[in-house]
Amino acid sequence: MDFDKNKYKIWKLPHPMLLHWILNPGLAFNELILGQRIPKITLIDKTSDAPLMERQYVPCPHCNTIHNGSLWAKQRGFKNWFGLFCPNCENIIPCIWNLTSLVLLAVTFPLWGWFRRPLKSKWRNFKKNQFLKNKDLEPITAKNTSWLKMGLIYGTLMFCFMSLPKIISGDVTSKYIVTQILICLVAGLSFGGAMKLFIGRRKNV
Ligand SMILES: [Zn+2]
Repeated sequence: MDFDKNKYKIWKLPHPMLLHWILNPGLAFNELILGQRIPKITLIDKTSDAPLMERQYVPCPHCNTIHNGSLWAKQRGFKNWFGLFCPNCENIIPCIWNLTSLVLLAVTFPLWGWFRRPLKSKWRNFKKNQFLKNKDLEPITAKNTSWLKMGLIYGTLMFCFMSLPKIISGDVTSKYIVTQILICLVAGLSFGGAMKLFIGRRKNV
């Protein structure tokens, strides 16, 4: 599939955003549990000066449709375990995999490998219905995104996965717990702030 290089900037490997998605072990959680996936190719409209998140497009290699990236916003951005569902041709738009996810999937293959086909067809029906049901989903914009909420959720998840196991296993002081809460809060808020600056900003990248 060829793209108009004058109109679109093409994000694919080895773009730093995609490399980060592959290498950061924490994102295995987003992929395997939440089902958030990143397509192999994202197009950024160079001609628009809207915030970055509003000028992202995802091409479907099966039917050549160039979808608006916000099609997979909100609830549609989750549970995409098998890839991004194309509502036009009902095929799956290929995505990249996080390395940690791949290792975990390989190790647990004997557990889920048997059910892959029935799971995939069930999932495909679920996604089809999801697209049919809320056809006119409110488009997601930088304005209606709560970056603070995003940061706080990130910080909470970080606390649950990194600090909570240690706290539950005991042998920690209350000072340790407070420090951990503060670290996660700061990390979460900086994450939200960085996302706001990066995908919410107006200037071209
Ligand atoms: Zn398609």
